[in-house]
Amino acid sequence: MNTIHHVINGQHINGHSTRYGDVFNPATGEASKKVVLGTDEDLNAAVAAAKAAFPAWAETPPLARARVLFRARDLIEQRMDELAAIITSEHGKILSDAKGEVTRGLEVVEFATGVPELLKGEYTEQVGRGIDAWTMRQPVGIAAGITPFNFPVMVPLWMAPMALATGNCFILKPSERDPSASIMLADILKEAGLPDGVFQVVHGDKDMVNAILAHPDIAAVSFVGSTPVAQHIYATGTAHGKRVQALGGAKNHALVMPDCDLEKTVDALIGAAYGSAGERCMAISVAVSVGPIADPLVAALAQKVKTITIGNGTDSSSEMGPLVTAQHLARVKGLVDSGVSQGATLVVDGRNIKIDGYEKGFFIGGSLFDNVTSEMDIYREEIFGPVLCVMRAPDFDTALKLINESPFGNGTAIFTRDGDSARTFVHNVTAGMVGVNVPIPVPMAFHSFGGWKDSLFGDHHMHGPEGVRFFTRMKAVTQRWPAGIRSGAEFIMPTHG
Ligand code: NAD
Repeated sequence: MNTIHHVINGQHINGHSTRYGDVFNPATGEASKKVVLGTDEDLNAAVAAAKAAFPAWAETPPLARARVLFRARDLIEQRMDELAAIITSEHGKILSDAKGEVTRGLEVVEFATGVPELLKGEYTEQVGRGIDAWTMRQPVGIAAGITPFNFPVMVPLWMAPMALATGNCFILKPSERDPSASIMLADILKEAGLPDGVFQVVHGDKDMVNAILAHPDIAAVSFVGSTPVAQHIYATGTAHGKRVQALGGAKNHALVMPDCDLEKTVDALIGAAYGSAGERCMAISVAVSVGPIADPLVAALAQKVKTITIGNGTDSSSEMGPLVTAQHLARVKGLVDSGVSQGATLVVDGRNIKIDGYEKGFFIGGSLFDNVTSEMDIYREEIFGPVLCVMRAPDFDTALKLINESPFGNGTAIFTRDGDSARTFVHNVTAGMVGVNVPIPVPMAFHSFGGWKDSLFGDHHMHGPEGVRFFTRMKAVTQRWPAGIRSGAEFIMPTHG
């Protein structure tokens, strides 16, 4: 059986571990590979290599660092199909969606190649007589990234290009469910000319994560995953004096106004709720319908959900692949069961689907609930599967209040033709990313990605200008040259007047 190893100091190594995790192909249900679950010693080896590599990398001019990323960008593009195939074989999402994920990650690499411009500080001549002042940004040192299963290429690329471009060494701990893509990223960066020890991959489960959080030489931790783990990462990492950004789970609502373009709204909701089998942090999982649109909305959604083509992600006719693991499949089915027992109307039931030739795969069909209320588990829990909950609100204000009462605040969207409703929604909704007739408003690489409330712990969003800030420390310099000192010592607080 194929074993997936760490990449430490440029070498693929097994390390000290005697523990391994199974990596499944979700379409066939087979555990075709295993991944090493690393130890404290493995992390120590990676940190030692990073410490050794850091001074030279931090001294490398930003332009030269950018050139490495330019080469990495080309290699990622050349190997797009290979990367997508790896994603599909371990995550299950359809190939075209996997390519879309790689493209969104590539865009961060492209943004990071502009690092000489991004690191330009601010300069003020003559803040006092003969005194000039400026700010500059320097790397934090060794940064770690801990990433979820649902975007095995894109989420590591939200972090690593920004960390590397700004002069840090970066240690990635990818999800143990689909760890192979991270190895390919390490190989690509090495081929692009990145020195050994600057980007490394350590595998593992919560033991490795906790070792990262406690390691005294790791200065910053960037995390993406579920809310309970994000809370743990933020609390533990900051208690150890680290800078932490921890992006958590989500329950993204779409507010559907009666004046929306129904056909376009339904298409948008179907893609956003069922794409990638709902395993997206920006998936729409709740549609809040306002007034009389509810009946036609549910009828149109039901018709489309039933026709989604489900199959192996490698099959070009598939629109939706399997869930990631058997455990996750059981959890999603259990939540659909709970929706029925707690009184929601199950309009489309995807629980008992069978895919010919893939009887052991982790497949579930799309499910659609109507008449969902805020006490139900299907509303309160992040299902992270192909399940859309429709709620009915009498008016805009009630719908907005419901959305704002959610503990999550990742993404949200309004569907309307009315500018006033749209503007009022954008202005008042308590979420970090807002779409107007755009179901999944994921910011481009040159903006920053992040939610509010229980969807993000920490002060910085991911990539874009916020990524530069997260991975750098600001230094403010005030300078006066000796020729300017014409008097003796000063004993009062300088005011630069
Ligand atoms: P997860 O929280 O289970 O795992 C994320 C990472 O944390 C993995 O690397 C895992 O090994 C590690 N981990 C898991 N349990 C841990 C524990 N008890 N202690 C320490 N580390 C632990 O998340 P997942 O199931 O891989 O991914 C899905 C979740 O990620 C969803 O909740 C989704 O909304 C969220 N997500 C959020 C965003 C965002 O931008 N906000 C993006 C993608 C995914």
